Amino acid sequence: DVILDENISFASLLLPDDIKQGLSVSGFKKPSPIQFKAIPLGRCGFDLIVKSKSGTGKTLVFSTIALETVNTAKDHLQVLILVPTREIAVQIEDVLRSVGCHVNGLKIESFIGGRPLEDDLKKSSKCHIAVGAPGRVKHLLKMGALTTNLVKLFVLDEADKLMEESFQSDINEIYNSLPPRKQMIVSSATYPQELDTFLANYMQSPTHVTSENETPLLLGLKQFAAMLRPGLNSVQQMKIKNDLLITILTKVSFVQCLVFTNYQSRTETVSNYLNQKGWDSVFISAAQKQTERLEAIDNLKKFKNRILLSTDLTSRGIDAPNVDLVINYDLPCDAVTYLHRMGRAGRYGSGGLCINFVSEGPEVTKLQHILGAIGGNLSIAKLPPLEGVD
Ligand code: ADP
Ligand code: MG
Repeated sequence: DVILDENISFASLLLPDDIKQGLSVSGFKKPSPIQFKAIPLGRCGFDLIVKSKSGTGKTLVFSTIALETVNTAKDHLQVLILVPTREIAVQIEDVLRSVGCHVNGLKIESFIGGRPLEDDLKKSSKCHIAVGAPGRVKHLLKMGALTTNLVKLFVLDEADKLMEESFQSDINEIYNSLPPRKQMIVSSATYPQELDTFLANYMQSPTHVTSENETPLLLGLKQFAAMLRPGLNSVQQMKIKNDLLITILTKVSFVQCLVFTNYQSRTETVSNYLNQKGWDSVFISAAQKQTERLEAIDNLKKFKNRILLSTDLTSRGIDAPNVDLVINYDLPCDAVTYLHRMGRAGRYGSGGLCINFVSEGPEVTKLQHILGAIGGNLSIAKLPPLEGVD
């Protein structure tokens, strides 16, 4: 039910023909509620704070506006999009290329760490839209490779993550290189109070856009807790979790599955274990080379693999539409992370399951805290007997 009224099409948003065609060939027919609301405001040049839950189509909001903003007759950077992870940058670049395929002469590039700097130096002087992670973008800026003084639109996706300490000085420096007159769009699924304070440094009287038509938070997702005996050491615990994982993969019907752990090394260990047991899987963590990271995501999106083991590197923003099972092999550290992990399933209103591995004792309290913070009518069903789930 993220789908609007039958009669509302992208055509009714009066977008330019080349973008309408791009949306159509990319398979998008009707705008989602947040798109329907935010795109016209963005086209009018307002500064926007776009807030709607995971999987409701925020990317297309700023992407269509970005594409329209660019004047391809001018050969300089006009749109800068910042995101917290390298994989999200590449994903947005793909969406822009797809929807922008009918825009003549359009040049889009992504700039992320872990790729050869020389390549980025070549690309940076000749693009209209740049999507990047703050670190690499700042680096290119400092080297004089990227010139941002003619940027017309500045976008922060996953803004609450970008607000974190580790990004702040980079964002500040990048922001200070932009011209005073520009449009800004900020997008986020989770919106802590402090974000307003942070954004007040950059935006004056932005328009907040939320979609009221939305279903309550992640309603299409069912949540379960699989209980583990208390008092196990970590080796015993992993053994039990691994067995449980196999049981779940065997008994629960799913299309694609994301398994989250809190440790980089576990992504590989658990993935190897699954592979041994005949469950073909891949893993991703920041410990890998960038090419391996992108390949793991690509394999999932292209359906070469059904199971991805991951750290919180992919808990935000990653859009693999067929993921319908999320397993928290280790509980996330907080409620926001929980929401983002869960949001990897149930993209664009599709259903899904989230299963938490919980040790009896303090972890139960931790999960209760998380659910309490999320609020609403979220509750968790205990998992055993597994036969009951499907
Ligand atoms: P968000 O950033 O809000 O979490 P995304 O922008 O990643 O969500 O979009 C989630 C999924 O929904 C993607 O697979 C995207 O292709 C799909 N989607 C977005 N907008 C539409 C639309 N108008 N019609 C159909 N699918 C859409
Ligand atoms: Mg997103």
